[in-house]
Amino acid sequence: MTIACRVCSTPIAEASYEASAPALTSMMSFIDIPTLTYVCDECGHAQCADLPDIDSFYDTTYRISLESDDHDQIFAVAADGNPIYRTDHQAAVGLRLLDLPQGASILDYGAGKATTLRKMCLARPDLHPHVFDVSRDYMPAWDGWVARENQSTYTVPESWAGRFDAIISHFVIEHVAEPVSFLKTLRGLLVPDGRLLLSMPDVAANPGDMTVADHLNHFSGASLKRALQLAGLALETIDSDAFPGAFFAVARRSEEPVAIDSDRLQIAAAADKAREICAFWKQATKRLDSAAKQFSGKRAAVYGSGFYGSWICSRIEADVDFRAFLDQNPKLQGSTHFNRPVLAPANLHPDVDVVFVGLNPLKARAAVAAQTALQRPGLDIVWIEA
Ligand SMILES: [Zn+2]
Repeated sequence: MTIACRVCSTPIAEASYEASAPALTSMMSFIDIPTLTYVCDECGHAQCADLPDIDSFYDTTYRISLESDDHDQIFAVAADGNPIYRTDHQAAVGLRLLDLPQGASILDYGAGKATTLRKMCLARPDLHPHVFDVSRDYMPAWDGWVARENQSTYTVPESWAGRFDAIISHFVIEHVAEPVSFLKTLRGLLVPDGRLLLSMPDVAANPGDMTVADHLNHFSGASLKRALQLAGLALETIDSDAFPGAFFAVARRSEEPVAIDSDRLQIAAAADKAREICAFWKQATKRLDSAAKQFSGKRAAVYGSGFYGSWICSRIEADVDFRAFLDQNPKLQGSTHFNRPVLAPANLHPDVDVVFVGLNPLKARAAVAAQTALQRPGLDIVWIEA
């Protein structure tokens, strides 16, 4: 089936990766659709097929971080061993990259609980916070620090046009079916020369992102630049170092049309990279299916209770005696995931025969080498990457 590139509209004749249903979402739930991934040679974009009923998915199903104030995704472990949480880091990076004027009016678009904006405002009490999301579920989290008239759900009020010195939108654009029209909407809410800060997964740095069903977009630096230019936003910075596995981009509202500069080499490299990741998933699926048969009936644990670990669970639980997830995030330890306990890696039970490694394959070897409990003689380790 030929589909159109979500960024540049070029037709794409065939999928680069296909897997049968169910597909795994970013919330670690399964939906009953096949996974289909496409790569665009014209702009270097990669994309997944549409979700059925996308509006109700985000209104009523997608409740990231809503369960408790304390729940926050870990993004790194500091040198002293303490975890660093996503929203703390996003707030710090946002303040650094946006360089906000005193008293700036700022909007968190697709805010969720808007924890990042809240932390920015704690550091900068002069800011005027506004929030928007496509669900009313988050309003209790906004009350008390965002004035009611500065809260908006489902549709942005017309009076907000041209109003904001800055907009932040963290990990939203990857979910959007039409990213260029999404960016045009944001541009229209900015004052002239106002700045937009976006974050999104960098699939090249975290290949797991390629098969997340509700991540309709898998941007490359090249396709992100194209999308911004098409929307009348001049790219100032793409920072791929501030946040592991993600891009942070800053763009400025331009009053003139922004020239489309097509760096053919950069675009070809992005498309090649995306196809290489699709090939990785094909072989990882094969490899895991064969390991599940090889360790049939054995006592198993999965290291990592995030996307990779959840995906592994779905493919092995029919064959192996799957006992527990291991995770180094202390806030997940003690919880359950797919009806299994989540344990600190050091608490791996001695009778476990095999550990399946469900971590970013670019980082998995180093992470496992750092866990002495996983060095036990006789313990088999299964990797998804060759
Ligand atoms: Zn394209």
